[in-house]
Amino acid sequence: MTRIAENLQAVRARIAAAALAAGRNPEEVALLAVSKTWPAEDVADAARCGQRAFGENYVQEGVDKIVQLSGLGLEWHFIGPLQSNKTRLVAEHFDWVHSIDRAKIAERLSAQRPGSMEPLNVCLQVNVSGEGSKSGVRPEALPALADMVSALPGLRLRGLMCIPEATHDQRLLRSRFATLRELRGDLRARGLVAETLSMGMSHDVEEAIAEGATIVRVGSAIFGERSAPT
Ligand SMILES: *Cc1c(COP(=O)(O)O)cnc(C)c1O
Repeated sequence: MTRIAENLQAVRARIAAAALAAGRNPEEVALLAVSKTWPAEDVADAARCGQRAFGENYVQEGVDKIVQLSGLGLEWHFIGPLQSNKTRLVAEHFDWVHSIDRAKIAERLSAQRPGSMEPLNVCLQVNVSGEGSKSGVRPEALPALADMVSALPGLRLRGLMCIPEATHDQRLLRSRFATLRELRGDLRARGLVAETLSMGMSHDVEEAIAEGATIVRVGSAIFGERSAPT
């Protein structure tokens, strides 16, 4: 068994245990394998173990892997900060974007999504920790952005995403994840369909699942520690 196969098995076990501990069905929690900085061979290795969904942070690096591995039937999620001059490549190659936090990016992605493809699945990234430096829409501005995005023909609003501040304080992490879940409730009350909660990474999968995560984004616990901080 390869190192990636072993790691994947361990992460799946963590997800299942966390879901059961929270009284949830483990099948409600999808694993997104975050392959940023790792080569296409590592993605192919994970794919051989049945992993289908992969997350990338850098547009060109992601597109290169998507093209290289196009025969494998994988699903690709863009999860990094997105500048407007890179939206076309994302619209033309990815299946999901988790990091939408402003109207301009959403409008461009919708307009640039090829008509031959399904609408792009999107999550709105929310700044749940209130740190000024963080990306993500402020909770007060979320309803207007969600209304606007849900009306765009090239996009399909699927839910919300967050990246809490870096901390090992489990209670704080849980309160951030709970905030995202409550904000999803607000969107549903507005009549929007938004089932996805994209939250939880290698070090806080358990806290995120306890608060209702439906997609966890796990990188280093599968592929190894990245050499450069990203
Ligand atoms: C890198 C990254 C992850 C994965 O982080 P790990 O700690 O390696 O699991 C998840 N989400 C986003 C947005 C990332 O940039």
